[in-house]
Amino acid sequence: MLTGGDDRFPMETNKPGVFAVGDVRSSSVKRVAASVGDGAQVVAAIHQYLAAQERARPMIVQPQMQVTAAG
Ligand SMILES: Cc1cc2nc3c(=O)[nH]c(=O)nc-3n(C[C@H](O)[C@H](O)[C@H](O)COP(=O)(O)OP(=O)(O)OC[C@H]3O[C@@H](n4cnc5c(N)ncnc54)[C@H](O)[C@@H]3O)c2cc1C
Repeated sequence: MLTGGDDRFPMETNKPGVFAVGDVRSSSVKRVAASVGDGAQVVAAIHQYLAAQERARPMIVQPQMQVTAAG
């Protein structure tokens, strides 16, 4: 599975927000330690992805709720 690239986060596949680690990843050296390393590394990439999503999201300001006395 191809990951990374100019417009993608490290280990991100061509499906935005889908990451691949370990043996399934293209160019993996197919060793346990490498897969564990990928898993540790991808956490940072996922944080970057989520932060970018958060920045791109329009801010929605909720109107304040008004509490009025009944009767
Ligand atoms: C016979 C053999 C000997 C090896 N010896 C060594 C060695 O001495 N030293 C070494 O470093 N490496 C060795 N390796 C390689 C090592 O096992 C792998 O590099 C490592 O296990 C890869 O980890 P992974 O998490 O990427 O994949 P995997 O360990 O293969 O884990 C993938 C998991 O995903 C599950 N899965 C697959 N499809 C689905 C699905 N559709 N839905 C849900 N789950 C799914 C599988 O059941 C599996 O549990 C050996 C491999 C083999 C086959």
